[in-house]
Amino acid sequence: MSPSSLSFALTPSSQPRSAQERAKILDNPGFGLHFTDHMVSVHWDKEGGWRDAAVTPYGPIALDPAAAVLHYGQEIFEGIKAYRHADGSVWTFRPQANAERLQRSARRLALPELPVDVFVESLKQIIAVDKDWVPSGEEASLYLRPFMIGDEVFLGVRSAHKATYYVIACPAGPYFAKGVAPVAIWLSTDFARAAKGGTGAAKCGGNYAASLLPQQQAQDNGCSQVLFLDPAEGKYLEELGGMNVFLVYGKQNKLVTPELSGSILEGITRDSVLQLARDRGMVVEERKIAVDEWKQGVASGDITEVFACGTAAVITPIGQLKGEGFSVGDLSAPAGDVTMGLRKELTDIQYGRAPDRHGWLVRL
Ligand code: PMP
Repeated sequence: MSPSSLSFALTPSSQPRSAQERAKILDNPGFGLHFTDHMVSVHWDKEGGWRDAAVTPYGPIALDPAAAVLHYGQEIFEGIKAYRHADGSVWTFRPQANAERLQRSARRLALPELPVDVFVESLKQIIAVDKDWVPSGEEASLYLRPFMIGDEVFLGVRSAHKATYYVIACPAGPYFAKGVAPVAIWLSTDFARAAKGGTGAAKCGGNYAASLLPQQQAQDNGCSQVLFLDPAEGKYLEELGGMNVFLVYGKQNKLVTPELSGSILEGITRDSVLQLARDRGMVVEERKIAVDEWKQGVASGDITEVFACGTAAVITPIGQLKGEGFSVGDLSAPAGDVTMGLRKELTDIQYGRAPDRHGWLVRL
């Protein structure tokens, strides 16, 4: 890849955590709790474009109370991980795909598009200074959170003429510390996550704000995630609050997932799973899936496994679907072979234990 079109100025932290402090955090990092010593920022304004790329000590950002993001929610983000391989090197997975998705999100939210090379370079820059924060434990990673806000000081309702792109990073322990276990999910029929023509396909903060109440309902009903149906008819599966969903028709060696409707997020894990399934000769279908197909398929035994996928948990088996007055599936049944096989295949590539035959890894 050609070098970034912007050069980054480094101001090292004068108070980085000591090796002991870092080791203590890396021992049990949890998720989203502890941040590394540095962050990246790149400013944009309408006249001059992208400028002032910098790596600075991690810390609060000063925002004027009239900054656009605080009033009209002009914010987009990404989620991507850095993985430490056995030889100590640090890699990331399909960063160009995240960069392009951030550009699509930017277009929908009327924010400026960050060049793909600057996105990839921004990840390299934070790893260059905070490499020691990438954990080495099994399925542990450094979670990278690139995001962009409209920060023009102006209360008019129009796209901001100033924006800033940031990257922060937090060590993450294995998602399933006690082994991969099937989860129950809650079918939300009261709320939609997205609307036809809305922002469902963009990774913007507002979508997640809208998902928090249904997510709370899921938890109140003993479920770990919420499943949303299509906003127009309330009949077809869309996605979970933070993951895409797949059905496995075991006897037919078939994998089915909701088509990209314009209101679901185009998951990079989803796309990778589709590729790995095609590689193993599975029939792959991206199409509309009525929630009744799930209920009937599990009852008839045609649907043998269901799973969700996303960067954070990779692939999560779904044992049960619950909703008002119904429940399908058996939460106590072990995760299926297709689910666990695909999970292993993907994590083996990410952690450098298997050949990267699709050229998905980029060294940071
Ligand atoms: N759908 C939603 C709503 C998400 O937040 C995520 C996580 N980014 C996904 C799907 C999965 O996307 P990815 O595989 O790119 O992490």
